Amino acid sequence: MAGIRSANSSHLSCISSSLYYILILYTIYMEYIDIHSHLSFKDYGPELLGVLINMRANNTATISVGGDYESSKESVRLAQENPDIFACVGCHPEGDLDQNFDVAKYEELVKMPKVVAIGECGLDYFRLADKTSNKNITSSDCHSRAGGNPGLLNSLDPNNEDWIPACAGMTEGDLMKREISRQKEVFWAHISLAKKYNKPLMIHVRDAVKNTLYPQGQAYNDVLAMLEGQGVKGNIHFFAGNWEVAQKFLAIGFTLSFTGVITFAHSYDEVIKKTPLNMIMAETDAPYVAPVPYRGQRNEPAYVHKVVEKIAEIRGEDILWVKHQLLENSKKYFSIQI
Ligand SMILES: [Zn+2]
Repeated sequence: MAGIRSANSSHLSCISSSLYYILILYTIYMEYIDIHSHLSFKDYGPELLGVLINMRANNTATISVGGDYESSKESVRLAQENPDIFACVGCHPEGDLDQNFDVAKYEELVKMPKVVAIGECGLDYFRLADKTSNKNITSSDCHSRAGGNPGLLNSLDPNNEDWIPACAGMTEGDLMKREISRQKEVFWAHISLAKKYNKPLMIHVRDAVKNTLYPQGQAYNDVLAMLEGQGVKGNIHFFAGNWEVAQKFLAIGFTLSFTGVITFAHSYDEVIKKTPLNMIMAETDAPYVAPVPYRGQRNEPAYVHKVVEKIAEIRGEDILWVKHQLLENSKKYFSIQI
């Protein structure tokens, strides 16, 4: 009896979720695509439904981007349940540090419907110095420096000094090199998946600050060197390089996307003005970096219109034209049909 009741209720919930999907599909009138949000992150919790309602009220769709395996899997689930959410699966350069990078697991996700891109992946040199200076060493840093040794992971107990020998005897420079080669190996795996499944990459690049071994621009140059000649396409998310760097990515067919930071900082203005409009996209990187007037609050895809409006303002172009073109760019580069 209990079995029949649960079968009926799951049948009913299946019907109601299908009706929900169809209802949204027919009410969608899309003006914006926030090409990079993290709706699968735990930050939203029970407020996620309200965030989706706001997103729809602002005629916005989004690509929910994974930062590790669990958030990638959750992005796929969200995409399956919501016609206006698409998924991007991959491992951030600082994601999954507590385990070996398992490309086969990610590959299973890449094959799922509505996965439109691979990432966010790339190179992040911003925290290299923190991660390699002995005074700030943490168990997960040591683990990542040790090349993701699961045996080592088991011994990572604050009271257990076993993990220290894995890093002992290495200079700060050695540790940085080791961490970068780990990041590059993971990034190569993403590039290979992008080639195999013919999907664009969603790339994260962040330079170090005041690091004499890896100066400003090094992370971008290293990413470029890895992409050149690979025949892959993609987008440089949260682009923060200068015009010289921007031109190199544009030359190999990569688009650039900008976040709410452009609403309160001017360092991106030159690149935004000079980049051809058909190579620009808007994103929130929600829950981070909310645009003015929401600065300091938890960000959400509904706010992407503020980024689009700012791009039009910086370029001195008609907002309706910019809005239309950015929507077309997002659909084209991520093969989104809605
Ligand atoms: Zn992100």
